[in-house]
Amino acid sequence: MATIFTKIVQGEIPSYKVAEDENYYAFLDINPNAKGHTLVIPKQEVNKIFDLDKEIYKGLMDFSYRVAKALEKAIPCERIGMSVIGLEVPHVHVHLIPINFMDDMRFVKKEKLSQEEFLTVAKLISANFQ
Ligand code: AMP
Repeated sequence: MATIFTKIVQGEIPSYKVAEDENYYAFLDINPNAKGHTLVIPKQEVNKIFDLDKEIYKGLMDFSYRVAKALEKAIPCERIGMSVIGLEVPHVHVHLIPINFMDDMRFVKKEKLSQEEFLTVAKLISANFQ
């Protein structure tokens, strides 16, 4: 069965898209640690990051780098934190999180955003993506 992230890529489930190319897709995390929390995924459905084909893995890091650069420009923060967990959704995803404090990486302190705020943030990051 397709993962929820494959359904997002295929447009069956809505997402706040930030960037996309042939192999990768970036969108806002629906339950963000902080404003701008973005997930970057390979379109190919693979559960664990180190099971990825090495070229797809390298491409994922390259795409995440570009998204992180856009995030840094769009969201005022101390830096961008990066994490890969995957215990909830079995489809590789890189968390890119604008952080100011260690706690911003702990996945316990959550930010509530309205639909309008999600849309504005996604557009802002997208506009800075190169
Ligand atoms: P984990 O698998 O533990 O790395 O966490 C999965 C992440 O995916 C969590 O931060 C969720 O908030 C996020 N998530 C789950 N479903 C969606 C969705 N439909 N759209 C955006 N983010 C999602």
